[in-house]
Amino acid sequence: MIIILKEHASENQVGELKNEMSARGLIIQEIQGETTRMIGLAGDTSGLSAETIMRHEYVERVMKVSDPYKLANRRFHPNDTVIELPGGHRIGGGGVTLIAGPCSVESEEQIVEIAREVKLSGAGFLRGGAFKPRSSPYSFQGLGLDGLELLKVAREKTGLPIVTEIVEQEHLEVFARDVDVIQVGARNMQNFPLLRELGRIGKPILLKRGLSSTIEELLMAADYILMEEKSPVILCERGIRTFETATRNTLDISAVPVLKEKTHLPVIVDPSHGTGHWNLVSPMAMAAVAAGADGLIIEVHNHPEKALCDGQQSITPALFDTLAKQAQRVHAAIKENA
Ligand code: PEP
Ligand code: MN
Repeated sequence: MIIILKEHASENQVGELKNEMSARGLIIQEIQGETTRMIGLAGDTSGLSAETIMRHEYVERVMKVSDPYKLANRRFHPNDTVIELPGGHRIGGGGVTLIAGPCSVESEEQIVEIAREVKLSGAGFLRGGAFKPRSSPYSFQGLGLDGLELLKVAREKTGLPIVTEIVEQEHLEVFARDVDVIQVGARNMQNFPLLRELGRIGKPILLKRGLSSTIEELLMAADYILMEEKSPVILCERGIRTFETATRNTLDISAVPVLKEKTHLPVIVDPSHGTGHWNLVSPMAMAAVAAGADGLIIEVHNHPEKALCDGQQSITPALFDTLAKQAQRVHAAIKENA
């Protein structure tokens, strides 16, 4: 529900209305439109009628938001959300942010070398899995907390903020302290207790689309994080399961413009998991940028043939360098003609 206020509504009146709504257990979001001031209400509004709210003479109008996601909804927040970290690292707000690194952290030498290389090519963030949610229990499961320590070494040596996946609530405290952007993998997109806990820790959360999730389900998952009002969210399209077997997943490029219309949250694309093949990463990365993505997350390995995880979809630092340059050129071309 969105309450549109009259121009003359005073601070006292707005405060009174907000108190009345929070007493009903609703989440309140102030929306500053170009000319109007509005209040977005999320939560159970079934017992609240428009007529009740309209009794306040300073209320102009009440609009129902029929979408099941509210806080992620662009109607609640017309301007794009921009995630800004210390050191000028940002996601959203007009550029193309590159997040790059191996699927898994394997050794200090590996992660530091890759971090140095991708930084030189323009990556703004380093990715690397320490806890890996592998489909097979017999596959490499990641270095765990040791992997996190190695990511911190790479951050120390390069200045790149780190993006890594959390798989269980037990690690919340360590991640809140040590990780710059916390990734929620496709397999955990609907782990609602984990999402709510992450919403409380005040770190940007990179939320990946579930293997078979709709865009609406992705946005509702984002609301689980946003309703705790502390952690901003970045959405990631990483391919969905279809009948097609030529690629690991089917990268849903149309999700980018659909999401950009429906939500204010930054949208990035993962063409590595989206395709599963290193030679398809660059073409799909360009398609993602052309479609309006705010960034890319790319698996880069210095020796893909020896990678402990996802080597077949990892590109070399040299290929990443070309991809990075081309992505910026595609982005500039799109902007020029916008
Ligand atoms: C990953 O980014 O390494 C990963 C496991 O991705 P997803 O959750 O999209 O499969
Ligand atoms: Mn991977």
